[in-house]
Amino acid sequence: MDKQTIIGGLQALLGEDRVQAAPELIRKASVDYIGFRQYERFDGKDWVPQAACVVKPRSVEEVSRALAFLNQNRIDTVPRTGGSSVTQSIEPEEGGVILDGSGMNGIIALNERDMMVTAKCGTPLEYLEHYLNERGFTSGHFPQSLPLAHLGGLVATRSIGQFSTLYGGIEDLLVGLEAVLADGEIIRIKNSPRRSVGPDLRHLFIGSEGMLGFITEATIKMFRYTPETRWMRAWTIKGMPAGLDLIREVMVSGYRPAVVRLHDAEEVERLFGDSVPEDHCVLLFLAEGPASVTAAIGQGILEIAGRYETLDLGTRPVESWLKTRNDVCYHLDEPVYYKHGVVADTCEISAPWSEIGGIYEAVRERLPKEMPNLVSIGGHSSHSYVQGTNIYFTFGFIVKDGVESARNDYMKVISVILEETLKRGGSIAHHHGSGKYRTRWMPREHGSSYTLLRKLKEALDPSRILNKGVLLTD
Ligand SMILES: Cc1cc2nc3c(=O)[nH]c(=O)nc-3n(C[C@H](O)[C@H](O)[C@H](O)COP(=O)(O)OP(=O)(O)OC[C@H]3O[C@@H](n4cnc5c(N)ncnc54)[C@H](O)[C@@H]3O)c2cc1C
Repeated sequence: MDKQTIIGGLQALLGEDRVQAAPELIRKASVDYIGFRQYERFDGKDWVPQAACVVKPRSVEEVSRALAFLNQNRIDTVPRTGGSSVTQSIEPEEGGVILDGSGMNGIIALNERDMMVTAKCGTPLEYLEHYLNERGFTSGHFPQSLPLAHLGGLVATRSIGQFSTLYGGIEDLLVGLEAVLADGEIIRIKNSPRRSVGPDLRHLFIGSEGMLGFITEATIKMFRYTPETRWMRAWTIKGMPAGLDLIREVMVSGYRPAVVRLHDAEEVERLFGDSVPEDHCVLLFLAEGPASVTAAIGQGILEIAGRYETLDLGTRPVESWLKTRNDVCYHLDEPVYYKHGVVADTCEISAPWSEIGGIYEAVRERLPKEMPNLVSIGGHSSHSYVQGTNIYFTFGFIVKDGVESARNDYMKVISVILEETLKRGGSIAHHHGSGKYRTRWMPREHGSSYTLLRKLKEALDPSRILNKGVLLTD
């Protein structure tokens, strides 16, 4: 179907004001913050395929009508809400449609008795968190993209926040949801503290990256907001292996601080200046909850830290991290690295304790040898579990030869990180998802269970209109 017919059909169904066809609005809705795209944009290139239009529904019925039409006519459709993707997950297909839920925003219900809140998919997380804080509650969900991301996208990407060691990821926070399937059918998964009624259907949508349906509403848990009883502490420690061991001991001992971070020496210089001895990493801990609990967690961590060669930095590094942790969101459109001819970005993976150190060392050994234009490769662990942790690699390289080389070198860095992770049985995406740039590694990531993902796609989106190119190789 040609672009004008698509636009006309959608306008007839939803009204003219729901369909945006101006090129600058389409381009804006297609922006993705993956490092090499940032570089391309600053360089004046716009290589993203052009969608026919952006559809901005205001209700679940409008989403349903739009999807029924798009499905009948087999039109490629990319769902989006906050647009903070860093994985090319919201880049459209040429001539396809962007289904933008950001106009569906607002709190639907606050249930103080059952400690949950329901909001529409386009509700900004920052707004939701303020709304809860004013009433003495918190969502416990603090991704760095808090100022950008919306509820629908947070569920669809299986997002995680900086306080995850206590509150978990969105999979631990989501209670129920409403979604629209590719053919326009509206479904609801009811709110329940726990159910034993077959597979957990919420997981069809958590992390589905828009390829199995469009989430229109979500109910998430809420908790008492108690910033006044927080316990915090920072230490330096020599070397990542010792830092990882210390964190492991905290986790397996049964302590649940909210924030557990270990920044390597490469990052420390950038984040904490020269107040930290050379080659030393920095550990940050924060516990929250009832005062008696945070005091006990603090005491336990102090005892464990005392058994290692650590240098106590007090609370200031944690306080300063708390103040500045999301600042990057306000500078995404500034050519901070571009003006130095550099592409800088991150890549997060996870692995069990027995493998994570090996992955970190292998990446740091291989990349400088294989990429003479690399300027930095460091990382931090920021989400820990009893079984293992994540490493959030941070890297930068000099662009040798224009945008094409920027993209190739970017994928070379990613390839080394993901290959070393797969080799050791780790997972190639801890929380950003597959998007379109990690898809080619998905068969190896999933192994024999990959067939389930294909079968789910066939069952829920047989015309394959939803977010082509994420998660599935074909
Ligand atoms: C500076 C920065 C920091 C970040 N920090 C974190 C972090 O700490 N933790 C973390 O987890 N992520 C982080 N991210 C990544 C990103 O913010 C998350 O993936 C976030 O969950 C995306 O939400 P969004 O509303 O912006 O979704 P979008 O970018 O709009 O969409 C992302 C994906 O979700 C799908 N989607 C969106 N809305 C819907 C819907 N209603 N129904 C079905 N599918 C939908 C899209 O198709 C796409 O696949 C960061 C990103 C940036 C730019």
